Amino acid sequence: RAAAPRGSWSSDSSGSSGSWEPLYRVVLLGDPGVGKTSLVNLFAGVQERDLLEQHGEAAYKRTLSVDGEETTLLVMDAWEPEQRGEESRRRSQCLQVGNAYIIVYSITDRGSFESASELRIQLRHARQAEDIPIILVGNKTDLVRCREVSVEEGRACAVVFDCKFIETSAALQHNVAELFEGVVRQIRLRRGGKEA
Ligand code: GDP
Repeated sequence: RAAAPRGSWSSDSSGSSGSWEPLYRVVLLGDPGVGKTSLVNLFAGVQERDLLEQHGEAAYKRTLSVDGEETTLLVMDAWEPEQRGEESRRRSQCLQVGNAYIIVYSITDRGSFESASELRIQLRHARQAEDIPIILVGNKTDLVRCREVSVEEGRACAVVFDCKFIETSAALQHNVAELFEGVVRQIRLRRGGKEA
């Protein structure tokens, strides 16, 4: 991984030597059009995009205060769709670098829900035996009349795949802060023992 462009896959090292703060990489997965970029933009905030964009890859760093404690997340929106079963370096990197994953589907697109299950399986293969936090996200809840995937189906899928579940609307900014706070809590739950 030494050859990776600085800032893209490596953590921030912009000269702030001294205080070392833990930084957790959170990778967004999901079909095109489900709302990954919209969710990450809300996370980053329109004003304060600490943005490293190269070739359509984007990573946004932000420190969140959750339950009275600060945690810095680097959220990566770099997933690309599979093209005719072809192996992709970026895809395998995405599956390797995350400390946590957000798998997004659109509640208006059953195909994207099926893709979410496939992504969960790919992730399990890529990171066997690792207990990585995964949040399944049903986005676009504002599009009530176009709903193709029920809340119950989403929840049941999360149970089967042993991940957390939340429905969001990036358009209405509903449950988006809760999503990222949930990621922080899931990371903290697993933190004890694994690192200092
Ligand atoms: P990505 O390809 O997964 O990154 O998806 P984008 O964030 O680019 O979103 C794809 C399209 O869906 C855009 O036109 C967004 O404005 C729209 N979109 C994203 N989230 C929502 C949502 O919660 N509700 C609605 N109605 N549209 C959304």
